[in-house]
Amino acid sequence: MKKDSATILGGGLCGSLLSVMLARRGIKVTLLERRADPRTDTTEVGRSINLVLSARGIRALKYAGVFNQVESLLMPMQGRLIHDEAGKTELHPYGQKESEVIYSVSRAELNRKLIECADAANNVNIRFRHEAVSYYPGEAILRVRDHLKGSDYDLKARPLIAADGAGSRVRRAFSNTDTLVGTEELLGHSYKELAIPNGPEGDFLLTPDALHIWPRGGFMLIALPNPGGDFTLTLFFPAEGDPSFASLDSDQKVADFFNEHFSDAVPLIDDLIGSWNRNPVGILGTVRCKHWHDDRNLLLIGDAAHAVVPFHGQGMNLAFEDCVILDQVCDNRDVDWETAFKVFEAEQIANANAIADMALENYIEMRDTVRDPKYLLRKNLSFELERRLPNRFIPRYSMVMFHDEIPYAVAKERGAVQQRLLKELTRDVDSIEDIDIDTAARLVERRLPPVH
Ligand SMILES: Cc1cc2nc3c(=O)[nH]c(=O)nc-3n(C[C@H](O)[C@H](O)[C@H](O)COP(=O)(O)OP(=O)(O)OC[C@H]3O[C@@H](n4cnc5c(N)ncnc54)[C@H](O)[C@@H]3O)c2cc1C
Repeated sequence: MKKDSATILGGGLCGSLLSVMLARRGIKVTLLERRADPRTDTTEVGRSINLVLSARGIRALKYAGVFNQVESLLMPMQGRLIHDEAGKTELHPYGQKESEVIYSVSRAELNRKLIECADAANNVNIRFRHEAVSYYPGEAILRVRDHLKGSDYDLKARPLIAADGAGSRVRRAFSNTDTLVGTEELLGHSYKELAIPNGPEGDFLLTPDALHIWPRGGFMLIALPNPGGDFTLTLFFPAEGDPSFASLDSDQKVADFFNEHFSDAVPLIDDLIGSWNRNPVGILGTVRCKHWHDDRNLLLIGDAAHAVVPFHGQGMNLAFEDCVILDQVCDNRDVDWETAFKVFEAEQIANANAIADMALENYIEMRDTVRDPKYLLRKNLSFELERRLPNRFIPRYSMVMFHDEIPYAVAKERGAVQQRLLKELTRDVDSIEDIDIDTAARLVERRLPPVH
């Protein structure tokens, strides 16, 4: 099949960026999105969910030539600012170089900009309010509901690139087959968004250049800054049990819970009880598939292929990395879609599985391990080893967030070796001064080859 046209389902973050890339190659793209045009639709106003953008995502935006258009939306964050129960705060820097920061960005604003860029590309035909209601794998036919006309039509979508998110209808159309073999694993913890508004002068009521965390063992509250001076708060919390979203079933219980665990944040939160009652509880989970393509006409990409829990801030970054890899595979004009899909899957599936695992592990670190005094000791030791051997020892968090040249699967593998080493070296000591750094460095050289 020649690569002269493609249908992309889903004009979210992944689908809109991929449209820009493929259109640039002269491929005619039909982009179907069930929601209304975000440039004119205001129903999302007031839900300012924001995301962490890091090196892999930035690389993809630059590669697509759209970074300049989104740069003004970004708020740099240099570390985690931990709020303890007594209201004391402590900054844990993410990295040790000035450039090692991550960025907070509004999902809605970023999506709006990417849709603008896709629309500006000559070869993209965007159909808003067009929703895929079913997919027939055998015939590769997509049934689409045109909400503007109130009618359905069938589309021969060859190829179809499904970027329709974690709950992908296309992926689920394969659930009784052994083609993709997908699993959806719910976390058991859910989330709710709240907000801290800006101050009277439009000022920030918390330090703006950090990701704030209130780690409380089995759950945590986080806050990310927005350019307007406000913060988006997210409570990650068990769905069931005590305490949980299910157990906080009255205004009084919600107020008591927040006063007990997040007393320094409570006076800043905008209409805590009203927002709690209005805002939905979101579910979290991991999607894994054995295959992302059906050998012929279909490719899953982004969350549709591999949703991950948000605790490493990588779902979007991974989806953007997907776009770069697929586009690079398409660079070879002689490669047809079928081969392109196979090569793409072979290159990226182990990476998606690796970051899915690391994201689950990072939830424990953010809500729990950061409170352990050994955590800071290990972090400081890992920075020291990185200073000594920057080509061999790079903290796992840094490999994932700042080193887009290191595949996620390699970061996971090297990270496991490093973690064992750090545990060994800090087992019987309480301070970095008690560690013989020369011996530690020799151990690193013995156990870790240089990073290529
Ligand atoms: C609470 C939370 C916090 C997160 N934080 C981060 C973070 O900090 N950093 C990060 O990198 N990632 C984060 N993520 C993950 C990130 O949001 C996703 O990985 C990213 O949105 C994936 O992009 P996508 O385009 O594949 O899917 P989506 O963004 O979900 O887009 C799918 C699109 O398809 C459309 N669609 C769906 N079904 C149909 C249909 N049947 N017909 C037509 N259109 C359809 C939808 O309307 C949507 O526009 C977070 C996720 C959550 C839930």
